Amino acid sequence: MEIVETQAQAKAIIRSWKGQKFSIGLVPTMGYLHEGHASLIRLARADNERVAVSVFVNPTQFAPGEDLASYPRDFERDRELCQSLGVDLIFHPQPVEMYPPGYATYVEAPSLSVNLCGRSRPTHFRGVLTVVLKLFALLGPDRAYFGLKDAQQFFIIKRMVEDLGLDLAMIPGPTVREPDGLALSSRNVYLSPAERSAALVLQRALRAAERLLRAGERRSDLILAEMRRIVVAETLARLDYAEIVETRGLSLIPQVTGQALVAIAVFFGKTRLIDNFLWEAEA
Ligand code: AMP
Repeated sequence: MEIVETQAQAKAIIRSWKGQKFSIGLVPTMGYLHEGHASLIRLARADNERVAVSVFVNPTQFAPGEDLASYPRDFERDRELCQSLGVDLIFHPQPVEMYPPGYATYVEAPSLSVNLCGRSRPTHFRGVLTVVLKLFALLGPDRAYFGLKDAQQFFIIKRMVEDLGLDLAMIPGPTVREPDGLALSSRNVYLSPAERSAALVLQRALRAAERLLRAGERRSDLILAEMRRIVVAETLARLDYAEIVETRGLSLIPQVTGQALVAIAVFFGKTRLIDNFLWEAEA
């Protein structure tokens, strides 16, 4: 396994892989890897001759006042996990390597960033799209792997790939959860024991929404009212949003038809957790 910090070093390795016609799978991450990341790396390992993982806490996707400085980091552990999963290359740049002084170019999909996390984090997806496009340009993957835990992120990047005509396949991976249902997240380490228990409210709200949908309810406002009621009842939780959108334009839908994303974000103290499920209309 090679570990490089500069774009020049990464480029040299990629050039040699491309020279040998190796297929390349890329798993972009912010590090502090857990089983969610590992599941994506395993998918990439199964599909590709070479697997690259980026470990980069991308400053441009954090707004002032968010947790950029405190975001958990443990590169030694990440390195060991990648090694055990058969990763071929870790790209681990410093921020200045990705954004040197005078850096000027950003990618945006404003209409897809209005709802869900885009509403509470208005500059977030601009940072995500920018860094992901830079990683795609540098590492030239045939396939890129993203978790559906961050479903809005997946759909926005997929649209960027389509709109810009990038020659790569976007592969989604299912959300990996703790045994009690809490979605794995690097940010779960921020939770106090009481907040960790309270965090199950995301699951409770989503399962309630799913039950209503299964029972035939299609009115978004009624489904969302039930989700909000469940979150409000949890004293340690503060609802950021509960929304239902269609998965192409990511716009709010009053009636659930076709493929819909039911998503929720909740604060526990300063820690904000997200979760969702995809609803597919029955044939
Ligand atoms: P992050 O390091 O949080 O930026 O996440 C890197 C990638 O791992 C993204 O594609 C995430 O969607 C994915 N990911 C994070 N948590 C999970 C999870 N619990 N299950 C599946 N994928 C995940």
